[in-house]
Amino acid sequence: MIPFSNLSYWERSIYTEGNDFTIIGAGIVGLSTALHLRKAHPKAKIVILERGYLPTGASTKNAGFTCFGSPTELRDDLSKMNENSVWDTVSMRLDGLRELFELVDQTQIEYDACGSWDIIRSEEEPLSSDFIDYLNEKLSEITNEKLVYIEDKTKHLESGFKGIRTAYYNRLEGAIHTGKLIVELQRSCSIQGIQILFGVNVLSFDSSDTSVEIATSMGRLKSANLLVCTNAFAKEFLSDIQPARAQVLITKEIPNLTIKGTFHMEAGYYYFRNIGNRILFGGGRNLDFLGETTTEFDTTERIQEKLRHYLKEIILPNTPFEIDYAWSGIMAVGSEKKPIVQKMNKNVAFGVRMGGMGVAIGASVGKQLSNLIS
Ligand SMILES: Cc1cc2nc3c(=O)[nH]c(=O)nc-3n(C[C@H](O)[C@H](O)[C@H](O)COP(=O)(O)OP(=O)(O)OC[C@H]3O[C@@H](n4cnc5c(N)ncnc54)[C@H](O)[C@@H]3O)c2cc1C
Repeated sequence: MIPFSNLSYWERSIYTEGNDFTIIGAGIVGLSTALHLRKAHPKAKIVILERGYLPTGASTKNAGFTCFGSPTELRDDLSKMNENSVWDTVSMRLDGLRELFELVDQTQIEYDACGSWDIIRSEEEPLSSDFIDYLNEKLSEITNEKLVYIEDKTKHLESGFKGIRTAYYNRLEGAIHTGKLIVELQRSCSIQGIQILFGVNVLSFDSSDTSVEIATSMGRLKSANLLVCTNAFAKEFLSDIQPARAQVLITKEIPNLTIKGTFHMEAGYYYFRNIGNRILFGGGRNLDFLGETTTEFDTTERIQEKLRHYLKEIILPNTPFEIDYAWSGIMAVGSEKKPIVQKMNKNVAFGVRMGGMGVAIGASVGKQLSNLIS
């Protein structure tokens, strides 16, 4: 690999010299931040540094749910967090989705407004109708939409699930093609003169009053401003960030699959959806919180076994299926279930800790971060 010091005049002038804004990380947040910066600074030189040959965190590994809160997840959040924080985060997720659809064309990312169902197993207590009324009241305050959540007693029967008592339908959630989202964001960056350098690992940075000196695996460069969008990998700079690995699997095609839509279970710790005639199924981090506090992109038999078990026992009890493959991605969590969007000093800012909601929240974090540094 050629270090920055051996680059040509042309290469330096485009990638490494005179940068107004340098962004670390080409995930949803880094790319959205770049696009928002471009709106505010039409002539600025904006460069993204990404250490992977692909974005390598969570943004191309996730389940692609455009979700802002299933009833059991919200009940769980309300039991652990301050009520206002819970609804602020829901509101931020909804704003994020609006921002996302401003940045990319829904059809290009295969957006499907399919709704979601939070399924309640036979051994679980159903939610009270008062609680569903409360959720609807709160959602109507945020969105002006009435009856976002309703109980649906038939979806699990139509879908052929076993051992399910009932389900709660959320008509405003949906699904996207995660890979196409990143491709579209990259395409917009390219059209708008934002350069992305893949294979450049940022090692450290030092800021002075007027600029930031950035040390990378390819050498040093200077930038007027630096935006850190490395999510779980920002833990070396900020203390309240923990990596949280999430594992998923995907089946081979299943002829005549009757399951359509996005589904949550057990306070959002499990989630599945159809992708054409396949099922993508993820979750199980709650089986081993400690073991999943890692940045290693592995899968474990303990969690994969549970996913296969739930698939066979609950989701596809009467349908033969084969697992095609499994993967993992790395999310970031902390003491609070909300992102960190903050300035470190005059010319360095962070937009990190997206939890399991970066698809929904990432574009709005990008906007906030751009405003903060601008
Ligand atoms: C399995 C799974 C399922 C999920 N499902 C959903 C879902 O359905 N809906 C939802 O809303 N959210 C979901 N999420 C969460 C969502 O994917 C994340 O919140 C979101 O992708 C975070 O985006 P990001 O840009 O902040 O971080 P990332 O996508 O992790 O991007 C950070 C980037 O920074 C780069 N980087 C790190 N350190 C350096 C360095 N030193 N130098 C250069 N580059 C660096 C990394 O390579 C990476 O590409 C899921 C996550 C996982 C793992």
